[in-house]
Amino acid sequence: MEGSLDQVHWPNTYPDCGGRKQSPIDIKRRNVKFNPDMLQLEMTGYGEMKNGNFLMTNNGHSVQIDLPPSMVIEKGLPAHYTAVQMHLHWGGLDLEASGSEHTVDGIRYMAELHVVHYNSDKYKSFDEAKNKNDGLAVLAFFYEDGHFENTYYSDFISNLEKVKYAGQSMNISTLNVRSMLPENLAHFFRYEGSLTTPPCYESILWTVFETPITLSHNQIRKLESTLMDLENKTIRNDYRMAQPLNERVVESSFLPRLGKGTFCRQEEIEAKLLNIEDMITSLGKHINPIGGNRPTNKDSQVIFPLVLNFPANKLMSFALINLGHPMNLHSFSVCMNLRMHPRSVHTVLSYSTTKHENELTITMGHEVGLWIGNEYVSLPHELRPRAWAHYCLTWASHTGGAELYVNSVVGKEQYLRADYTIPPGGKLILGKDKDGFLGISDSDAFVGYMTDVNIWDYVLGPEEIQKMMNCEKNSGKGNVLNWGVTSMSLYGGVQLETEHKCS
Ligand SMILES: [Zn+2]
Repeated sequence: MEGSLDQVHWPNTYPDCGGRKQSPIDIKRRNVKFNPDMLQLEMTGYGEMKNGNFLMTNNGHSVQIDLPPSMVIEKGLPAHYTAVQMHLHWGGLDLEASGSEHTVDGIRYMAELHVVHYNSDKYKSFDEAKNKNDGLAVLAFFYEDGHFENTYYSDFISNLEKVKYAGQSMNISTLNVRSMLPENLAHFFRYEGSLTTPPCYESILWTVFETPITLSHNQIRKLESTLMDLENKTIRNDYRMAQPLNERVVESSFLPRLGKGTFCRQEEIEAKLLNIEDMITSLGKHINPIGGNRPTNKDSQVIFPLVLNFPANKLMSFALINLGHPMNLHSFSVCMNLRMHPRSVHTVLSYSTTKHENELTITMGHEVGLWIGNEYVSLPHELRPRAWAHYCLTWASHTGGAELYVNSVVGKEQYLRADYTIPPGGKLILGKDKDGFLGISDSDAFVGYMTDVNIWDYVLGPEEIQKMMNCEKNSGKGNVLNWGVTSMSLYGGVQLETEHKCS
């Protein structure tokens, strides 16, 4: 549990951790395959159990409840699977930092529950099954926070205090697992994956449920802050980074809703494409700082302040950057000033090539999401701004290290895509991602104000970032994207504003 740098080295000691069917993954709903033949799970023995002796343990990295063999999945999986234990993954590294292991469209939930089962048709025990490719099945559930206490969790949450220290355990006499799960179990994703900690055996058939379990804010806080690890530090079980899907397909038991109540059907996509064509011809405006010509030298006239407003009622709006300097990045810094509307996730910037949809994509939400070469990492931060805030992201391919500065405060470094080059020849857009551009999804459109978006092909130091944050003159001029100099085209109702952080 030593953070993401360590995860990179797991395969050195545990070769399976470098396999092609690893977990967790980011579930991209638009790439999920609906399988109408997938059966609903039939679970017996999950309801109320009285006069039992169920061991609840703080094992130093999570809380685990041992489950009795009377709990069996009878239908919906390739065999009978018998329950073994359940445990949780949560965050809490920073205030409100989310900690689920799986993510959905890049969104990380507050926490995640794993109910672990083994194939009891074929194997005598969990231990015998755990490294077999058909050995295990895990049911995964997300937690989100809400306003009301979930009374089915009251006992569980208050018991945490009794197993505060690593190694402590207690017996609980009454357990009702079914009541701790969401009501709707009909919507789930299914894929073949692995244990999310070493030895990372590729033995798990994962079922990830779409409907989250709601706990109150207070219950989540207690979960995040009560348990201690072996060194008497609060347990924050670091989630493993999303692993590449490789040749796997994620199936769903339902047609995922993409965008506003529309199903992703071919005719609808085509209709939307026609709309977009219309929009591009009728609403396209071009901003060229020097009278319609490409900027030719450093003395180009600069439009200032140039603030883009992406209105809430125009989710299709975006800006296309006419790159003068090709993206060909062994490292980069991207900085910007943003004032965002409250919304779960905003796509700020998306650079896609024919090879990778998310060659370089940046999203803002409870955390900052960064994709490089279709690999995802999230960078937590504490700010929940309604006012202007200054963001910088840096990445260097020689280590794969990515850092996030929010108002010039740097967070914990994360790692992805070492020794990778972001290739030239793609499309750079602001305010949406490429699929949004095609109108398939507007659920992650940027809503709010955006300015001073600059890109450099090197890593900026903290002093330079501080200068920009303080709006010092002659700071913050990107050599790949130079805001106010590099030309762009606006589509779908982006408005120009003058309200500016630095004015
Ligand atoms: Zn787990």
